[in-house]
Amino acid sequence: MKKNRKRIVISVLEILAVLLLFAPAYRLACGIGLKKVYSDNGISIYADDVRYKEEAKQMAETLKVQLLEVDGDYSPKISIYFCKTMTGFQIKAITMGKPLALTRANLKTTLFRPCDWAKNSIEPRKPQLLPRSLSSVLLHETLHHYEWKKLGLVRFFVKTHSENWKIEGFCEYHAASSSFPIDKGLRVFCEEADYGFVTSNEIKPEYFYFVSRLRTDYLLNFKKVSESEYWSTKYDEDQLDNEIRLALMEKRYAFAVQQ
Ligand SMILES: [Zn+2]
Repeated sequence: MKKNRKRIVISVLEILAVLLLFAPAYRLACGIGLKKVYSDNGISIYADDVRYKEEAKQMAETLKVQLLEVDGDYSPKISIYFCKTMTGFQIKAITMGKPLALTRANLKTTLFRPCDWAKNSIEPRKPQLLPRSLSSVLLHETLHHYEWKKLGLVRFFVKTHSENWKIEGFCEYHAASSSFPIDKGLRVFCEEADYGFVTSNEIKPEYFYFVSRLRTDYLLNFKKVSESEYWSTKYDEDQLDNEIRLALMEKRYAFAVQQ
């Protein structure tokens, strides 16, 4: 009996040790082949060339200003890695897909696919989509860290599985940017354009992000729902979409003009 208890205690300690060691080890692995180009007040940025120091500083400063608008009390402690190659990004992010960036909130990391620092943009995955500015994607990803902190581990995890549109919509709403062209998105959403455009061009994920942003904008910006109500209310998605469609068609609600 005593022996068993000792074994359980040792196992728990081992698991804790692995978890505690894993995050720094993971961050160390993410930094392979990259150089630290910015570090201040909890935000560290890594890139493949030190010549991006000035851009990284500007990016971090813009991010801090944008975060102030969301929550003045939030100061992130995160490491951001701009990968040199797509393969490097996929290996470090542990993903087979090719998203613009990927956040692992539990490990306090955000990884970016290779992007154009000079143009401050990330090229779209498909020609039907729009490029995104680095700062809008960075804000989106940093807000996932914020959601993790605000909602807590369990709620964040549950919502990413049951209400992922809220998790993504909140970030896209504040980033005020969409990969999916807004005019086209609104026409598909209001059933004035064929949904086949989305499926045949294999741009379903980007359309999902667009609709998630639209729903969040409708609730937080148009209906002035509080943030806590937004997170705690279980919306019927079909009902919500019908309500938005009607408000759009009756021109009571106009979705953000900004792309
Ligand atoms: Zn996201």
